[in-house]
Amino acid sequence: MPWTATVLTLYPEMFPGPLGVSLAGRALAEGVWRLDMVDIRGFGEGRHRAVDDTPAGGGPGMVLRPDVMAAAIDSVAEEAQGVPRLLMSARGRPLTQARVRELAAGPGVLVVCGRFEGVDERVIEARELEEVAIGDFVLSGGEPAAIVLMDAVVRLLPGVMGSAASGEWESFEQGLLEHPHYTRPRVWEGREIPEILLSGDHRRIEAWRREQAIALTQSRRPEIYEAWIGRKRDDKQ
Ligand code: SAH
Repeated sequence: MPWTATVLTLYPEMFPGPLGVSLAGRALAEGVWRLDMVDIRGFGEGRHRAVDDTPAGGGPGMVLRPDVMAAAIDSVAEEAQGVPRLLMSARGRPLTQARVRELAAGPGVLVVCGRFEGVDERVIEARELEEVAIGDFVLSGGEPAAIVLMDAVVRLLPGVMGSAASGEWESFEQGLLEHPHYTRPRVWEGREIPEILLSGDHRRIEAWRREQAIALTQSRRPEIYEAWIGRKRDDKQ
């Protein structure tokens, strides 16, 4: 069985979307990974297939019903056995490259896409959904977040990225943001490629890239820099 994403959504037509083109799309067509869609609407109640209702306690918006969501999740329980069950959620734990790597090493994911105000809390507890956020902002639905998550995972699957090495030096993989890149032309709008990159001295180039990565991380993401410094200190002890 290839790595399989099972996505529960009210909008299956949003998929594969961007995952149907380029690297992820080719890998999908070649069977390197699989995408199974579950239309939550199919588990809706009554003639109108209602999936949501007004929030208990009042307030704006609608909430996805626990019975409907549980029925949709249970319909794939067998196929998705032993697979992490994620709920895309603004309140979730922020997605990290480390978690993406873990997911890529596993059999796949079950991803629930929220809509409206979100999902009834009881189904999150009862079906042990792990809430995952893709950033500190609010989307109108979990679908774009699910696509982001799957894109990050799929590119790490064996055979998807052209060069296996190209993953290792990237942002977050070393606990740092990545160094800057340059390519031809050598001079563009009066701006030159840093001399050292043209020197052919691989040791000095590596050292320069590392310095750049450290400086960039320190100025843009001080919290990541502090964590990196802390780990370096621990390694030395
Ligand atoms: N009332 C919620 C936001 C609902 S947005 C709150 O304040 O937390 C509707 C749906 O979009 C959510 O159920 C979730 O599935 C998705 N979503 C919104 N922002 C997200 C984010 N940053 N990461 C992942 N999913 C998100």
